[in-house]
Amino acid sequence: MKEILIIGSSNTDMVIKADHLPRPGETILGGTFFMNPGGKGANQAVSAARLGGQVTFICKIGNDIFGQQSKQLFEKEGIDTSYILSDSTNPSGVALITVDSKAENCIVVASGANANLLPADLSAAHKAIEKADIILMQLEIPVETIKYVTRIARELNKKVILNPAPAQLLDSELLQSIYMITPNETEAEMISGIKITDNDSLIASAQAILDKGAQSVIITLGAKGAFLFNKDFQLTIPTYKVDAVDTTAAGDVFNAALAIAVSEELDLPEAVRFANKAAAISVTRIGAQASAPYRHELDEK
Ligand code: ADP
Repeated sequence: MKEILIIGSSNTDMVIKADHLPRPGETILGGTFFMNPGGKGANQAVSAARLGGQVTFICKIGNDIFGQQSKQLFEKEGIDTSYILSDSTNPSGVALITVDSKAENCIVVASGANANLLPADLSAAHKAIEKADIILMQLEIPVETIKYVTRIARELNKKVILNPAPAQLLDSELLQSIYMITPNETEAEMISGIKITDNDSLIASAQAILDKGAQSVIITLGAKGAFLFNKDFQLTIPTYKVDAVDTTAAGDVFNAALAIAVSEELDLPEAVRFANKAAAISVTRIGAQASAPYRHELDEK
């Protein structure tokens, strides 16, 4: 089993379904309430563990029931939680979500402890970085922390995959140490400053990101698959046609699967095919972590 190190966010999504979204000042009676584990880091960690990685997940949780529940779930998935940090002042990350009858939603995220996962917290995690075959991070924790890990990873010659979500401007200092960056179209537009409207602008956007220093760029294209671009490849790799019922966390499953495939040394087009396959299965099911497929499901199809 390959060692996959994931550093990122963990949230609890609190969802209420209602007929319509409340207007400012309005109180409405909702329907069902449910809680789902979420956060891009946690979604990717669970997904990578199900796909056959030996996953170590580092995140920061509050000293509360939500954080404890998340940690227990990670342990159930076989994830190494020994580096998870507890924040004595900030609560665990939560997202308050209202969904209306047309599946439109309204979301407020309180990052809490996630926003307080700082470089100093990771000084004790050097061993985890040392033993990693691949490191996967997203942008729901402070960017200084990502830079810190990337710097150590570079010294140790470790590959870092950065999933730049949610969209944020990134400087070349960071991108120069990145093995692979995996924006969706919106994120690619933000990083490159180039609007993607057709194939030419897709290539131009990927080229601009490569010029900033990343070694490979993979722009995910939703139902159209993903575009792989580096000095050797310029390839749109289509995905499987499926009846999509919920695309929540499709990007998270894609990134986790990509990290697994790269750690197993598949060539890049094969790695993208593997990631497309995992993500395609996930969109046929409802939920974030709940929809993440297991390795045998990919091997069977
Ligand atoms: P994000 O969810 O981060 O915005 P995308 O929408 O690009 O990212 O989706 C990520 C990946 O999930 C795609 O590259 C593709 O592999 C898969 N995917 C997303 N939507 C579908 C779909 N409707 N059918 C099949 N695969 C999908």
